[in-house]
Amino acid sequence: MSDYLLKSVCYEGQIRAYALCATETVSEAQKRHDTWSASSAALGRTMVGALLLGATLKGDDKMTVKVDGDGPVGHIVVDSNGRGEVKGYIANPSVSLPPNAAGKIDVRGAVGTQGTLTVTKDLGLKEAFSGQVPLVSGELGEDFTYYMANSEQVPSAIGLSVLVDTDDSIKAAGGFMIQVMPGATDETLLAIEKNIAEIPLVSKLMDAGEQPEEILDRLLGKENVKVLEKMPVSFKCDCSKERFSTAIIALGEHEITEMIEEDHGAEASCHFCGNHYHYSETDLIELRAEALAK
Ligand SMILES: [Zn+2]
Repeated sequence: MSDYLLKSVCYEGQIRAYALCATETVSEAQKRHDTWSASSAALGRTMVGALLLGATLKGDDKMTVKVDGDGPVGHIVVDSNGRGEVKGYIANPSVSLPPNAAGKIDVRGAVGTQGTLTVTKDLGLKEAFSGQVPLVSGELGEDFTYYMANSEQVPSAIGLSVLVDTDDSIKAAGGFMIQVMPGATDETLLAIEKNIAEIPLVSKLMDAGEQPEEILDRLLGKENVKVLEKMPVSFKCDCSKERFSTAIIALGEHEITEMIEEDHGAEASCHFCGNHYHYSETDLIELRAEALAK
């Protein structure tokens, strides 16, 4: 089953709700970066959050989520867009910690509790939109919720969930975002709060075979949900040898000559997806010529 995200309106427009299955997507990131359990959970939750926030964008619009905490994983950077594509990396992929008091992966211990969550949106306008909040939890779900309420002024409930297997592979990943629209009644909010308090971990439900449709039904009640769109979701990096060539040309003649004479070639690797690009001496001589022609 491929990953997808559902967009819905509920309670006749009082609520907007999104539910996401991202098991394959987070799995791809785990394999590419060879992340250990705590790093897998932290990167995976950030990817799920970035996909949920990205679901509010139009097709070509894109955003970057940066989590910068004082924990051992270091910073986490995830890019997403309005087409359900996501890519990301974590500064230290090799973090595993003893389980927390609840017996779960200690994401707070991995991310830290001091730091910031920053969202930068490129909406094709002259200036990018950027919002930043301090980390309030380090578990990330609460941090994304706090960001939505404080930076975008949309009261929301966000759940991010990643189930990591004993061999560090991803068993399931997913989440939800419920947004309260102006005019929502107390009765509606109380009903949803009760459901949120009762719902088991989304990744556990998905591991047991549930789909985003069933997650929305659990959270909002089947009769209240109207699904508007089903969007495929995937890990996708837009790097290429051409892009890295442009970056090498920008280094200038002097640096390229050094790479040729001292290293007889160069290796470039993409932070986001881990792809490597090799440049032979001949490649570099061509790039130096282009740099000189500028
Ligand atoms: Zn890449």
